[in-house]
Amino acid sequence: MDFSLDRKERASLYSYSIQCLSHNSEGWERLRVSLGVHVSIAGGLAKAFDRARALGCTTMQIFSRNPRAWKVEPLAETVIAAFRAEAQKGDIDPIIIHTPYLLNLAAEDEELHRRSIAALAQDLERAEQLRATHVVTHLGSTKRASRRWGISRVVEAIRKVLAKDFPVLLVMENSAGGGHSIGSQWEELGEIIHRVGGDERVKVCFDSCHGFAAGYDFRSPEKVRRLTEGIERTIGWTRMGLLHLNDCGSSCGGHRDRHQHIGEGTIGREGFRNLLRHPRFRRLPMILETPKKHPRDDQRNLARIRRLLLH
Ligand SMILES: [Zn+2]
Ligand SMILES: [Zn+2]
Repeated sequence: MDFSLDRKERASLYSYSIQCLSHNSEGWERLRVSLGVHVSIAGGLAKAFDRARALGCTTMQIFSRNPRAWKVEPLAETVIAAFRAEAQKGDIDPIIIHTPYLLNLAAEDEELHRRSIAALAQDLERAEQLRATHVVTHLGSTKRASRRWGISRVVEAIRKVLAKDFPVLLVMENSAGGGHSIGSQWEELGEIIHRVGGDERVKVCFDSCHGFAAGYDFRSPEKVRRLTEGIERTIGWTRMGLLHLNDCGSSCGGHRDRHQHIGEGTIGREGFRNLLRHPRFRRLPMILETPKKHPRDDQRNLARIRRLLLH
């Protein structure tokens, strides 16, 4: 069986991906809210759909592989077929793939840099095979080299990956800004987009925990306004591709990446209420990456967000 897309299919998948993100003045109410969690692929990739459905999700995020290993086998045709049969039902949409944790696009080490580029390219290819529309990735950090050097390194990596034609959005996740982690500021993300030639496949994910830890406060309407001005001044709304909703165990500007249950961290319920009251934010696909210690944790955190979306 051949799973590659023909030209028409590619065009329609791509225009859909772009439409997901297009913003007009119609207001969010006319659009379906895409809310989901990062779900496990234990037992097979297609199993993720049932987990997402059981939680009432309308979108989901998965790893396409073991996130703690470099080694990856190509996807078997049966795996692709089973996944695509589920995806075609259309109730879980968009489908988002998160790249492995090991990846560091800013790495000084040549071998690590090369492997990271390869891993990102593999996930984009797997997304196309599986009909996932978004691949979200952390950008990484430098050890000794400066942040400026790290940004150039990330630009080099993303350029290499973009050289290939693929109908998938490459979503750069903001970082908490600890150490020399790249992409904690809108300006840095904007610079990367600019330096990779403004390719329209490149989007940004705002992780609420990372953003808050990086110093972006949104616990009052006035602060949300300042946050959105930052977006408008640097990357613009059309570049926003995804929201990661996590409460935070770090202080605002504390630069520590500690995810907390919604409403139980330093952002708190009011912080999320303010963020999600903004029509631009609530129209983005929203994924929770909150702790999963208890089987009902996801349900509780989703219920909290749904409540905030309704009021
Ligand atoms: Zn995240
Ligand atoms: Zn995080």
